[in-house]
Amino acid sequence: MTGAVAVVVDTPQHAGLGGALDYLSEQALAPGTLVRVPLGRREVAGIVWPRAARPLPEVVLRPIAQQLDAMPALAPQWLSLLEFAAGYYQRGLGELALAVLPPELRKLDAAQLAQRLRRLHKRLRAPDDEATASVALPTLNDEQSAALGAIDVAAGDAHAPPLLLHGVTGSGKTEVYLRAAARALERQRQTLMLVPEINLTPQLLARVTARFPAQRVVAMHSALTPAQRLQTWLLAHLGLADIVLGTRLAVFASLPRLGLVVVDEEHDASYKQQEGARYSARDLAVYRAHLERVPVLLGSATPSLETWHHVLSGRYRRLALERRIGGAALPRVRVFDMGRLPRVQGPPPVLAPPLLEALRERLARGEQSLVFLNRRGYAPVLHCADCGWKSACAHCTAWRVFHKHDRTLRCHHCGFTERVPRACPECGNLDIAPLGRGTERLEEQLGELLPGARIARFDADATRGKGNLERTLAAVHAGEIDVLVGTQMVTKGHDFRRVTLVAAVNPDAALFSSDFRAPERQFALLLQAAGRAGRDAAATTPSEMWIQTWHPQHALFAALREHDYARFAGSQLDERRSAGLPPFAHLALLRAEARDAAVAQAFLRAGADTAAAMAEAKGVMIYPPVPPTMQRVAGIERMQMLVESAARARLQRFLTAWLPKLHEVRATHKGLARWAVDVDPQAI
Ligand code: ADP
Ligand code: ZN
Ligand code: ZN
Repeated sequence: MTGAVAVVVDTPQHAGLGGALDYLSEQALAPGTLVRVPLGRREVAGIVWPRAARPLPEVVLRPIAQQLDAMPALAPQWLSLLEFAAGYYQRGLGELALAVLPPELRKLDAAQLAQRLRRLHKRLRAPDDEATASVALPTLNDEQSAALGAIDVAAGDAHAPPLLLHGVTGSGKTEVYLRAAARALERQRQTLMLVPEINLTPQLLARVTARFPAQRVVAMHSALTPAQRLQTWLLAHLGLADIVLGTRLAVFASLPRLGLVVVDEEHDASYKQQEGARYSARDLAVYRAHLERVPVLLGSATPSLETWHHVLSGRYRRLALERRIGGAALPRVRVFDMGRLPRVQGPPPVLAPPLLEALRERLARGEQSLVFLNRRGYAPVLHCADCGWKSACAHCTAWRVFHKHDRTLRCHHCGFTERVPRACPECGNLDIAPLGRGTERLEEQLGELLPGARIARFDADATRGKGNLERTLAAVHAGEIDVLVGTQMVTKGHDFRRVTLVAAVNPDAALFSSDFRAPERQFALLLQAAGRAGRDAAATTPSEMWIQTWHPQHALFAALREHDYARFAGSQLDERRSAGLPPFAHLALLRAEARDAAVAQAFLRAGADTAAAMAEAKGVMIYPPVPPTMQRVAGIERMQMLVESAARARLQRFLTAWLPKLHEVRATHKGLARWAVDVDPQAI
C-alpha cells in the first residue's frame, strides 16, 4: 500500500512545515529511518519523522528515492531530543537534525551504506584482544563510594534528579565516572561522557581504554577525519561502542542503549556552541538524560552558577568530594599585591621578587612550575612612540598581535596577517616597540630570569602542528620540563604529578570586564589552575599558587585563598539576583550583521517594532540594540538586541511566535548579511 510519510530534510525552517516534507512510500517506514529523497533537482538525505495529523498538501507527492534500512532506525528518543533542541534554540528541525549526523553518512546511498556496515562488522569480528589488560582498580574512598551509591540509586529511579559531582581538583571525580560507566555496562547500557574540547587528552583516553576494551570505546571530537567520524558514529548507533567520550557535538550521538550521561567540567564555556545552532551541550545532556530516564552526572570543582542555583533550590542533588585523593593538600594560595613593589621608572617587573624566588626554589629542588597568562603571542600590540601608531586590524575593532617567532602581526579575530613592518607605517620611525606581554614574550623573559631552566610553552600557537600537544604533555609528565608557560590550556584537567607551583601573572583584566560571567569564569580558571599543583600526596614540599595582582582586595581572590567555592558562588548569585541576570532571568540575544551598522540596527529596531504588537510579548522585555564589545569583525559590523523574561516558558513562547515575523522583516532589509537568535547566550 502506498502512503504519505513525513521526511525531515535540510531546508531552512521557513521554507515550510518546520523542515518536514511529505513523500510517498510503498511501504510503511518506521520513524527514524534514513532515506534519500528528491528535493528540487537534487537528491538529498532525510530522516523519516512521525507524521503530525495534518491534511496532505494539494500537490502530487514525489516518491522516496531510497531507504537506507541496512542500519536500524534512529530511536524515538533521539527524534524527541532533536525536536526539543530545534524548538528551544529556535533552529529548523531539518537543518539541525541533518547537521548533527556525520557528513559522510548524508552522502551514502543504500548500497554504499550496506557495504560500509559489512566492512565494519568484518573488522570487528577480526580477532583482537577484546579482553582488557586487567588493571588493579583503586579502592574508592568513603566520599567516592557514597557518590557511586547515589548514582546506582538514580539508575533505578526514573524520577531521580540530576546529580552534581562537586569535587575539589584531584578528588577522584574521573574515577567515579569510570566506575559508574562500568556499572552501566554491567546493565548492558552505554555511557555518554562529555568533556570540554581541550580535556580530551591522550591521558584521559588512555585511562578509559585501560578500563574498557579499546574497541568498545570511541572518541568523538572535531579533529576526526570525515571517515573516522562516520565510523565512530556508526559504532555508537549500532550499539557496538559502550563508552562514547566526546566533545559538545557528541551530545547528539545516536545511543540506542544509553544508560548514563556524564558531563565533566560542566561549567566549561566550550559546551556552548557559538555558531549555527547555538546549543548548550551541558543543558541538552540534562534534557536527554531526563528524556531517557537515565542518571546524569555533572562534574566540576567550580559548578556553573546555573547548576549551583539548581542545587540550592533542591532541583539537583549535590554529591561532594571534599578531600583530595591520598590526603594531598590543596595548594596554599598567595596573593601578591603589585602595589607594594617600590616605585621605579618604566614597567613593573615580569615577576614579583618573592614569586621569582619561589620559582628558583622549585628549580633547585627539581620540581615543576606552571606559569599562566591568558594571552598568546609576543605582545598584544605594536606601538610607535613618535606618532602614536598602533597595530590595529584594518577589518576588526581589535589590535593585531605581534608574533615574534615568525615576525608577523596577526589578528586573532579575522586572521589578517602581515609581516611586521621595518618602520612605522605612519611616520617612518624605525623604533616601533611591543606593548604588553603574551605567552611568547613571557617564555623569553622567564628564560632570562631562570637561566638553565627547561621551559616550554603550551598555547594554541605552540601546539598547532600535529603531535606537538601530545609531545609537550608527555615531556611534562616525564619530568623533562621545569617550567611550563601557557594560556588557559595549561589549567585544564591535566594530572601533572610533579607540579608544586602555579603562578597567575596577570589575572586582573577579567576583574573589570563588562561580561557578567567574567568573574565566574576567572574564579573557575584560577581554581582549576591551582588544582594542577600538589597532586602528589607523597610530595614532601607544600604546593603553592601565586597570584600577582594590583587588586588584592577583590572578593574573588579572598574566596580563592580559602578555596571557598560556595562563598564565591553565593555572593555572585546575590549580585545576579539583584541585577536581574541569569539564572534569575532568561535571556536571548538577537544578533545582526551587515557591512553598514545602520542596516543591522534598523533590522533590529524593526524586529522590536513587530514584537510590540504581539500578545506573546507580554512579560518579555526587549532592550534597544547596542554594538557588542567587538563591534567589527572581518569588515562586518555587528549589533545585538537583548530579549529578557523572568519565565523561561514565556520567553520560549514569545521567540517561537516572533521568529516567523523576523523572517518577514529580514526580507525588507536587503543589506543585512545575517541574523541569528542566541538563546541563553554566554556573554551579552
Ligand atoms: P579529578 O577527576 O577529581 O581531578 P582523578 O579521578 O583524576 O581526580 O583522580 C586523581 C588521581 O587519583 C588519579 O591519578 C586517579 O587515578 C587517582 N585516584 C582516584 N581515586 C582513587 C582512589 N580511590 N584511590 C587511589 N587513587 C585514586
Ligand atoms: Zn610613527
Ligand atoms: Zn581582524
